Amino acid sequence: MRVLQISTQSRQEFIDITALVRQIVLQAKIDNGVCLVFCPHTTAGLTINENADPLVRQDIIKHLEKLVPDNGGFSHSEGNSAAHIKASLLGSSVSVIIEEAKLRLGTWQGIYFCEFDGPRAREVYVNPIKSKA
Ligand code: ZN
Repeated sequence: MRVLQISTQSRQEFIDITALVRQIVLQAKIDNGVCLVFCPHTTAGLTINENADPLVRQDIIKHLEKLVPDNGGFSHSEGNSAAHIKASLLGSSVSVIIEEAKLRLGTWQGIYFCEFDGPRAREVYVNPIKSKA
């Protein structure tokens, strides 16, 4: 298992971590298996989505704000319930098939770290797992 250190710069942002995950898979020298990517935070998550038009990521962030407004009348005293809810909606892990030492993502897919309560220092765990032969 490897740990990515990520410094987020904004309150909400999606950071493309695909190249970093690819590098870990290459270094692990695993031909076939699955790569588990896990976010150990409660106000950030992970998702796989469009890697071509950055406006798609902006649209996702904007629409999540409509779904879960900051002033939603929450009870949690820390005041960041919207970030907790958005993190749960997207989820805290993604997994991608490894085939011939490459991530088997779709052409237009990238892996994104999704910050909802930044800026903060964050970590992502990346664990490529070899398939049994
Ligand atoms: Zn909180």
